Amino acid sequence: MAQVLSGKEVSGELRNAIKEEIAAIRQTSPDFNPGLAIVQVGGREDSNVYIRMKCKAAEEVGMTATHVKLPQTTTEQELLQVVQKLNSDVKTHGIIVQLPLDSSNEINTDLIINSIAPQKDVDGLNGENAAMLSRGDMSNCILPCTPRGCLELIRKTGTEIKGKRAVVLGRSKIVGSPMANLLTWNHATVTICHSRTIDLPSVCKEADILVAAVGRPEMVKADWIKPGAVVIDCGINSIPDASKKSGQRLVGDVAYSECKEVASWITPVPGGVGPMTVAMLIRNTVDGAKRELEAAKVK
Ligand code: NDP
Repeated sequence: MAQVLSGKEVSGELRNAIKEEIAAIRQTSPDFNPGLAIVQVGGREDSNVYIRMKCKAAEEVGMTATHVKLPQTTTEQELLQVVQKLNSDVKTHGIIVQLPLDSSNEINTDLIINSIAPQKDVDGLNGENAAMLSRGDMSNCILPCTPRGCLELIRKTGTEIKGKRAVVLGRSKIVGSPMANLLTWNHATVTICHSRTIDLPSVCKEADILVAAVGRPEMVKADWIKPGAVVIDCGINSIPDASKKSGQRLVGDVAYSECKEVASWITPVPGGVGPMTVAMLIRNTVDGAKRELEAAKVK
Protein backbone atom coordinates (compact mmCIF):
# COMPACT_ATOMS: atom_id res chain seq x y z
CA MET A 1 0.00 0.00 0.00
CA ALA A 2 1.44 3.35 -1.10
CA GLN A 3 2.42 6.19 1.17
CA VAL A 4 0.49 9.37 0.45
CA LEU A 5 2.63 12.14 -0.97
CA SER A 6 0.84 15.20 0.34
CA GLY A 7 1.42 18.32 -1.72
CA LYS A 8 -0.63 20.20 0.82
CA GLU A 9 1.90 19.39 3.53
CA VAL A 10 5.05 19.84 1.44
CA SER A 11 3.81 23.12 -0.05
CA GLY A 12 2.98 24.37 3.45
CA GLU A 13 6.57 23.69 4.54
CA LEU A 14 7.90 25.43 1.43
CA ARG A 15 5.72 28.50 1.93
CA ASN A 16 6.78 28.76 5.58
CA ALA A 17 10.43 28.57 4.57
CA ILE A 18 9.89 31.31 1.94
CA LYS A 19 8.15 33.49 4.51
CA GLU A 20 11.14 33.17 6.85
CA GLU A 21 13.52 33.81 3.98
CA ILE A 22 11.76 37.07 3.04
CA ALA A 23 11.74 38.20 6.67
CA ALA A 24 15.48 37.42 6.96
CA ILE A 25 16.34 39.37 3.79
CA ARG A 26 14.36 42.34 5.11
CA GLN A 27 16.66 42.46 8.13
CA THR A 28 19.40 43.78 5.86
CA SER A 29 17.30 45.07 2.92
CA PRO A 30 14.12 46.51 4.45
CA ASP A 31 12.71 47.49 1.03
CA PHE A 32 12.84 43.93 -0.28
CA ASN A 33 9.34 43.32 -1.57
CA PRO A 34 8.80 40.62 -4.21
CA GLY A 35 5.95 41.64 -6.52
CA LEU A 36 3.77 39.32 -8.59
CA ALA A 37 1.33 40.57 -11.24
CA ILE A 38 -1.46 38.25 -12.34
CA VAL A 39 -3.10 39.38 -15.56
CA GLN A 40 -6.58 38.06 -16.27
CA VAL A 41 -8.70 38.65 -19.35
CA GLY A 42 -12.43 38.07 -18.77
CA GLY A 43 -13.86 36.35 -15.74
CA ARG A 44 -13.84 32.56 -15.99
CA GLU A 45 -14.90 31.17 -12.63
CA ASP A 46 -12.15 28.50 -12.55
CA SER A 47 -9.54 31.20 -13.25
CA ASN A 48 -11.00 33.37 -10.48
CA VAL A 49 -10.54 30.48 -8.02
CA TYR A 50 -6.91 29.87 -9.08
CA ILE A 51 -6.10 33.59 -8.93
CA ARG A 52 -7.57 33.91 -5.44
CA MET A 53 -5.40 30.98 -4.29
CA LYS A 54 -2.27 32.54 -5.78
CA CYS A 55 -2.97 35.97 -4.25
CA LYS A 56 -3.64 34.43 -0.84
CA ALA A 57 -0.42 32.40 -0.91
CA ALA A 58 1.56 35.49 -1.94
CA GLU A 59 0.04 37.56 0.84
CA GLU A 60 0.77 34.86 3.43
CA VAL A 61 4.50 34.85 2.71
CA GLY A 62 4.63 38.64 2.84
CA MET A 63 4.90 39.58 -0.82
CA THR A 64 2.69 41.74 -3.00
CA ALA A 65 0.34 40.22 -5.56
CA THR A 66 -1.54 42.48 -7.95
CA HIS A 67 -4.53 41.15 -9.83
CA VAL A 68 -4.73 43.01 -13.15
CA LYS A 69 -8.28 42.28 -14.29
CA LEU A 70 -9.04 43.19 -17.90
CA PRO A 71 -12.43 43.09 -19.64
CA GLN A 72 -13.45 40.34 -22.04
CA THR A 73 -13.30 42.91 -24.85
CA THR A 74 -9.52 43.32 -24.43
CA THR A 75 -7.65 43.11 -27.73
CA GLU A 76 -4.31 41.44 -28.39
CA GLN A 77 -2.66 44.84 -28.77
CA GLU A 78 -4.07 46.08 -25.44
CA LEU A 79 -2.92 42.95 -23.66
CA LEU A 80 0.57 43.28 -25.15
CA GLN A 81 0.72 46.84 -23.86
CA VAL A 82 -0.26 45.73 -20.34
CA VAL A 83 2.48 43.07 -20.34
CA GLN A 84 5.05 45.53 -21.67
CA LYS A 85 4.21 48.03 -18.94
CA LEU A 86 4.67 45.31 -16.31
CA ASN A 87 7.95 44.24 -17.97
CA SER A 88 9.37 47.67 -17.24
CA ASP A 89 7.80 48.10 -13.79
CA VAL A 90 10.59 47.83 -11.21
CA LYS A 91 8.17 46.72 -8.48
CA THR A 92 7.04 43.69 -10.52
CA HIS A 93 9.36 40.69 -10.36
CA GLY A 94 6.98 38.10 -11.71
CA ILE A 95 4.25 38.27 -14.36
CA ILE A 96 1.73 35.60 -15.18
CA VAL A 97 -1.05 35.75 -17.72
CA GLN A 98 -3.82 33.49 -16.47
CA LEU A 99 -4.78 30.93 -19.10
CA PRO A 100 -7.02 30.22 -20.88
CA LEU A 101 -7.72 33.78 -22.02
CA ASP A 102 -11.41 34.60 -21.86
CA SER A 103 -11.60 37.18 -24.61
CA SER A 104 -14.22 38.04 -27.20
CA ASN A 105 -11.32 38.90 -29.54
CA GLU A 106 -8.85 36.54 -31.12
CA ILE A 107 -5.62 36.64 -29.12
CA ASN A 108 -2.47 34.68 -29.94
CA THR A 109 -1.62 33.13 -26.57
CA ASP A 110 1.95 32.22 -27.55
CA LEU A 111 2.61 35.77 -28.69
CA ILE A 112 1.42 37.09 -25.32
CA ILE A 113 3.40 34.57 -23.25
CA ASN A 114 6.52 35.23 -25.30
CA SER A 115 6.13 38.97 -24.74
CA ILE A 116 6.76 38.52 -21.00
CA ALA A 117 10.37 39.41 -20.17
CA PRO A 118 12.08 36.01 -19.66
CA GLN A 119 13.42 37.00 -16.23
CA LYS A 120 9.85 37.85 -15.09
CA ASP A 121 8.20 34.80 -16.70
CA VAL A 122 7.48 33.08 -13.37
CA ASP A 123 5.24 30.48 -15.02
CA GLY A 124 8.35 29.48 -16.99
CA LEU A 125 6.31 29.16 -20.17
CA ASN A 126 7.90 31.48 -22.69
CA GLY A 127 10.02 30.16 -25.54
CA GLU A 128 13.31 31.37 -24.12
CA ASN A 129 12.87 29.63 -20.77
CA ALA A 130 11.47 26.48 -22.41
CA ALA A 131 14.43 26.30 -24.82
CA MET A 132 16.95 26.57 -21.99
CA LEU A 133 15.19 23.85 -20.01
CA SER A 134 15.04 21.53 -23.01
CA ARG A 135 18.82 21.87 -23.39
CA GLY A 136 19.48 21.26 -19.71
CA ASP A 137 20.51 24.85 -18.99
CA MET A 138 18.49 24.75 -15.80
CA SER A 139 20.42 27.20 -13.67
CA ASN A 140 19.74 30.00 -16.17
CA CYS A 141 16.04 29.49 -16.74
CA ILE A 142 12.83 29.77 -14.77
CA LEU A 143 11.31 26.33 -14.31
CA PRO A 144 7.56 25.96 -14.97
CA CYS A 145 5.63 25.71 -11.71
CA THR A 146 3.75 22.42 -12.04
CA PRO A 147 6.73 20.31 -13.22
CA ARG A 148 8.97 22.00 -10.63
CA GLY A 149 6.41 21.10 -7.97
CA CYS A 150 6.26 17.50 -9.21
CA LEU A 151 10.05 17.23 -9.08
CA GLU A 152 10.05 18.53 -5.52
CA LEU A 153 7.47 15.88 -4.56
CA ILE A 154 9.49 13.10 -6.19
CA ARG A 155 12.58 14.27 -4.28
CA LYS A 156 10.56 14.23 -1.04
CA THR A 157 10.06 10.47 -1.41
CA GLY A 158 13.85 10.00 -1.18
CA THR A 159 13.80 8.18 -4.54
CA GLU A 160 16.99 8.65 -6.50
CA ILE A 161 15.93 9.88 -9.96
CA LYS A 162 19.26 9.13 -11.62
CA GLY A 163 19.09 6.00 -13.75
CA LYS A 164 15.37 5.40 -13.17
CA ARG A 165 12.83 4.73 -15.90
CA ALA A 166 10.32 7.59 -15.96
CA VAL A 167 7.17 7.86 -18.03
CA VAL A 168 5.35 11.15 -18.55
CA LEU A 169 1.79 10.91 -19.81
CA GLY A 170 1.08 14.08 -21.80
CA ARG A 171 3.27 16.43 -23.84
CA SER A 172 1.73 19.87 -23.26
CA LYS A 173 3.90 22.98 -23.03
CA ILE A 174 2.72 23.62 -19.49
CA VAL A 175 3.17 20.20 -17.88
CA GLY A 176 4.15 17.14 -19.92
CA SER A 177 7.03 18.45 -22.07
CA PRO A 178 8.84 20.45 -19.36
CA MET A 179 8.31 17.57 -16.88
CA ALA A 180 10.01 15.18 -19.29
CA ASN A 181 12.88 17.68 -19.71
CA LEU A 182 13.29 18.05 -15.96
CA LEU A 183 13.41 14.30 -15.44
CA THR A 184 15.84 13.87 -18.35
CA TRP A 185 18.26 16.44 -16.95
CA ASN A 186 17.95 14.83 -13.54
CA HIS A 187 19.29 11.74 -15.31
CA ALA A 188 16.18 9.57 -15.59
CA THR A 189 15.53 7.65 -18.81
CA VAL A 190 12.30 9.21 -19.98
CA THR A 191 9.45 8.14 -22.26
CA ILE A 192 6.77 10.67 -23.23
CA CYS A 193 3.30 9.35 -24.05
CA HIS A 194 0.47 11.17 -25.82
CA SER A 195 -2.81 10.53 -27.57
CA ARG A 196 -1.15 8.58 -30.38
CA THR A 197 0.93 6.29 -28.16
CA ILE A 198 0.20 2.64 -28.77
CA ASP A 199 -0.35 0.38 -25.75
CA LEU A 200 -0.19 2.96 -22.99
CA PRO A 201 -0.63 0.41 -20.17
CA SER A 202 2.56 -1.49 -21.14
CA VAL A 203 4.60 1.69 -21.51
CA CYS A 204 3.38 2.99 -18.15
CA LYS A 205 4.15 -0.31 -16.49
CA GLU A 206 7.86 0.20 -17.23
CA ALA A 207 7.93 3.34 -15.10
CA ASP A 208 9.68 3.59 -11.76
CA ILE A 209 8.38 7.16 -11.79
CA LEU A 210 5.07 7.87 -13.52
CA VAL A 211 3.78 11.41 -14.01
CA ALA A 212 0.25 11.69 -15.40
CA ALA A 213 -0.85 14.94 -17.06
CA VAL A 214 -3.54 14.08 -19.58
CA GLY A 215 -6.76 15.59 -18.24
CA ARG A 216 -8.68 12.28 -18.44
CA PRO A 217 -10.48 11.30 -15.25
CA GLU A 218 -8.98 8.21 -13.58
CA MET A 219 -7.52 6.91 -16.84
CA VAL A 220 -4.48 5.23 -15.27
CA LYS A 221 -5.47 1.91 -13.73
CA ALA A 222 -3.78 -0.31 -11.16
CA ASP A 223 -2.55 -2.79 -13.76
CA TRP A 224 -0.67 0.06 -15.55
CA ILE A 225 1.53 0.61 -12.50
CA LYS A 226 4.83 -1.13 -11.82
CA PRO A 227 4.77 -2.41 -8.23
CA GLY A 228 6.61 0.10 -6.03
CA ALA A 229 6.45 2.97 -8.57
CA VAL A 230 6.22 6.62 -7.54
CA VAL A 231 3.00 7.99 -9.05
CA ILE A 232 2.49 11.73 -9.50
CA ASP A 233 -0.97 12.79 -10.63
CA CYS A 234 -1.26 16.28 -12.14
CA GLY A 235 -4.82 15.83 -13.40
CA ILE A 236 -7.64 18.02 -12.16
CA ASN A 237 -10.92 16.67 -13.51
CA SER A 238 -14.41 17.38 -12.32
CA ILE A 239 -16.80 14.40 -12.48
CA PRO A 240 -20.48 14.11 -11.53
CA ASP A 241 -21.14 12.99 -7.95
CA ALA A 242 -24.72 13.03 -6.72
CA SER A 243 -23.59 12.62 -3.09
CA LYS A 244 -21.94 16.08 -3.15
CA LYS A 245 -23.83 19.31 -2.63
CA SER A 246 -22.19 20.75 -5.73
CA GLY A 247 -23.14 17.63 -7.70
CA GLN A 248 -19.51 17.02 -8.62
CA ARG A 249 -16.08 16.17 -7.26
CA LEU A 250 -12.48 16.42 -8.35
CA VAL A 251 -10.44 13.42 -9.43
CA GLY A 252 -7.02 13.07 -11.01
CA ASP A 253 -5.84 11.24 -14.11
CA VAL A 254 -5.01 8.23 -11.92
CA ALA A 255 -7.58 5.85 -10.40
CA TYR A 256 -6.30 6.65 -6.92
CA SER A 257 -7.93 4.00 -4.75
CA GLU A 258 -6.82 1.06 -6.89
CA CYS A 259 -3.37 2.45 -7.85
CA LYS A 260 -2.42 3.16 -4.24
CA GLU A 261 -2.46 -0.60 -3.66
CA VAL A 262 0.41 -1.02 -6.15
CA ALA A 263 2.51 2.17 -5.97
CA SER A 264 5.07 2.99 -3.27
CA TRP A 265 4.12 6.69 -3.21
CA ILE A 266 1.12 8.43 -4.72
CA THR A 267 -0.21 12.00 -4.80
CA PRO A 268 -3.89 12.57 -3.96
CA VAL A 269 -6.26 14.85 -5.89
CA PRO A 270 -7.02 17.37 -4.51
CA GLY A 271 -4.10 18.11 -2.18
CA GLY A 272 -1.27 16.76 -4.34
CA VAL A 273 0.31 18.61 -7.24
CA GLY A 274 -2.11 21.58 -7.18
CA PRO A 275 -0.79 23.27 -4.00
CA MET A 276 2.80 22.63 -5.14
CA THR A 277 2.15 24.60 -8.33
CA VAL A 278 1.14 27.64 -6.28
CA ALA A 279 4.14 27.28 -3.94
CA MET A 280 6.50 27.16 -6.93
CA LEU A 281 4.97 30.30 -8.38
CA ILE A 282 5.80 32.05 -5.13
CA ARG A 283 9.31 30.49 -5.15
CA ASN A 284 9.97 31.67 -8.72
CA THR A 285 8.84 35.22 -7.93
CA VAL A 286 10.95 35.48 -4.79
CA ASP A 287 13.95 34.10 -6.71
CA GLY A 288 13.42 36.84 -9.31
CA ALA A 289 13.30 39.55 -6.65
CA LYS A 290 16.47 38.12 -5.07
CA ARG A 291 18.29 38.17 -8.42
CA GLU A 292 17.33 41.82 -8.83
CA LEU A 293 18.47 42.66 -5.32
CA GLU A 294 21.87 41.06 -5.98
CA ALA A 295 22.17 42.86 -9.32
CA ALA A 296 21.41 46.21 -7.63
CA LYS A 297 24.17 45.55 -5.07
CA VAL A 298 26.72 44.99 -7.85
CA LYS A 299 25.78 48.27 -9.65
P1 NDP B 1 -3.41 19.38 -22.30
O1 NDP B 1 -4.80 19.08 -22.72
O2 NDP B 1 -2.73 20.58 -22.82
O3 NDP B 1 -2.50 18.13 -22.69
C1 NDP B 1 -2.94 16.83 -22.45
C2 NDP B 1 -1.91 15.85 -22.98
O4 NDP B 1 -2.40 14.55 -22.74
C3 NDP B 1 -1.64 15.95 -24.48
O5 NDP B 1 -0.28 15.79 -24.76
C4 NDP B 1 -2.47 14.81 -25.06
O6 NDP B 1 -1.90 14.22 -26.21
C5 NDP B 1 -2.43 13.80 -23.93
N1 NDP B 1 -3.62 12.95 -23.95
C6 NDP B 1 -4.92 13.33 -23.91
N2 NDP B 1 -5.72 12.25 -23.93
C7 NDP B 1 -4.92 11.17 -23.96
C8 NDP B 1 -5.15 9.78 -24.00
N3 NDP B 1 -6.38 9.28 -24.01
N4 NDP B 1 -4.08 8.96 -24.03
C9 NDP B 1 -2.84 9.45 -24.04
N5 NDP B 1 -2.56 10.76 -24.00
C10 NDP B 1 -3.58 11.61 -23.97
O7 NDP B 1 -3.42 19.35 -20.73
P2 NDP B 1 -2.42 19.99 -19.63
O8 NDP B 1 -1.07 19.41 -19.81
O9 NDP B 1 -2.57 21.44 -19.59
O10 NDP B 1 -3.07 19.43 -18.30
C11 NDP B 1 -3.15 18.03 -18.01
C12 NDP B 1 -3.92 17.85 -16.73
O11 NDP B 1 -3.19 18.49 -15.68
C13 NDP B 1 -5.31 18.49 -16.71
O12 NDP B 1 -6.16 17.70 -15.91
C14 NDP B 1 -5.08 19.83 -16.04
O13 NDP B 1 -6.24 20.30 -15.40
C15 NDP B 1 -4.03 19.46 -15.05
N6 NDP B 1 -3.17 20.58 -14.64
C16 NDP B 1 -2.94 20.69 -13.32
C17 NDP B 1 -2.15 21.68 -12.82
C18 NDP B 1 -1.93 21.72 -11.38
O14 NDP B 1 -1.49 22.75 -10.86
N7 NDP B 1 -2.18 20.63 -10.66
C19 NDP B 1 -1.55 22.68 -13.71
C20 NDP B 1 -1.80 22.45 -15.11
C21 NDP B 1 -2.59 21.43 -15.55
P3 NDP B 1 -1.72 15.00 -27.62
O15 NDP B 1 -0.55 15.90 -27.42
O16 NDP B 1 -1.44 13.92 -28.59
O17 NDP B 1 -2.98 15.73 -27.86
